[in-house]
Amino acid sequence: MQVGTARADPGERSRGWLEVADLPTGGTERLPVTIVRGEREGSTVWVTASIHGDEVTPLAVAQDFLRSLSPDALRGALVCLPVLNPAGLRATSRRSPYHYDDPNRYFPALDREGTPESETRSQPPRTQELIDRQVYDAIAATADSTAALLDLHTAGIGSLPYTIRDQVLFGTERDRETAEKLDEALDTLTEALGLPVVSEFPVPEYFERNFHRTLSGSALNSLGVPAMTIELGGHTIIDEVIRERALGGLARVLAAVDVLDTIPEELRASASAETPTAPVSSPVKRHDGPRVSHAGIVRHWVSAGDVIEAGESVAAVLTPHGERKEVVESEHDGYVLARKPGIAVHANDAICSLAIADEGDRVVPRNG
Ligand SMILES: [Zn+2]
Repeated sequence: MQVGTARADPGERSRGWLEVADLPTGGTERLPVTIVRGEREGSTVWVTASIHGDEVTPLAVAQDFLRSLSPDALRGALVCLPVLNPAGLRATSRRSPYHYDDPNRYFPALDREGTPESETRSQPPRTQELIDRQVYDAIAATADSTAALLDLHTAGIGSLPYTIRDQVLFGTERDRETAEKLDEALDTLTEALGLPVVSEFPVPEYFERNFHRTLSGSALNSLGVPAMTIELGGHTIIDEVIRERALGGLARVLAAVDVLDTIPEELRASASAETPTAPVSSPVKRHDGPRVSHAGIVRHWVSAGDVIEAGESVAAVLTPHGERKEVVESEHDGYVLARKPGIAVHANDAICSLAIADEGDRVVPRNG
């Protein structure tokens, strides 16, 4: 098995690099790659981290998880890309300096009609898109054997940890039955991981916001690999409690897809620790809101983990002098994943990330 310069025969661990772009000042941008390959045949699991360069708990989780696994414990292989955005990591920046926008919106993907994005536009791809394509191609080369792709992120200051689960699409590229099998595979992964599950923004918002071009969105819905985004708390500093808990969760995922027979000794305590429960038990989906009507200074009355009801007042907007301009109500039942960072808001800004009641299907037509 080979990814970039990492090449592992059965029973080997190999560290190498995926060289993804020439730099104007000389040298190359390169992504570290580690393959841990078991002596025995089995499935492949990908762990990818820190495509947003200020999301650092994922990097620590990936490093520690790799260290805890030995090739003799595995059946199949783990492929890990712990730093998907080295330039962003160096600058403690979410974005990369290639086009200063979100690097996790440029993976190759099929559009709503099932046509590859690359076939429907006139401009050539720029650097970040070329980088994302190389990561995608490496995953695509192992797609048939891949049982899971776990893309590790953080979601914002003070955020609860949770798993984002995309809707599984069917249409041109797969039939409904195949999509349902893929969705069942996601059940196995999310249950093993043990974090609260939040469904991704549904179609058509999914396409409008380019979430089909995230790493997990493109792996799942274009490559047909069981893939999910895992949000591990807040940005910029390592959250040690969440790091520890995530290591146990990853070990349980590898065990659930038979890549691990037994949980390694050093991960046993965290793998058997109690997993967090969601503040509400019914299905929820991601939502940015509520939104304010007026510019001003927001004062939140709720925080991460609070259960809220439709019509409940969740914040006030004040003038800079401190007079109340507006009381902001939630339009939905659900709970607060995080407050949005910053307190200065403009009209129509969302002030929270919410998990709201979700009555939608998990398997849906691509063009529906
Ligand atoms: Zn992220």
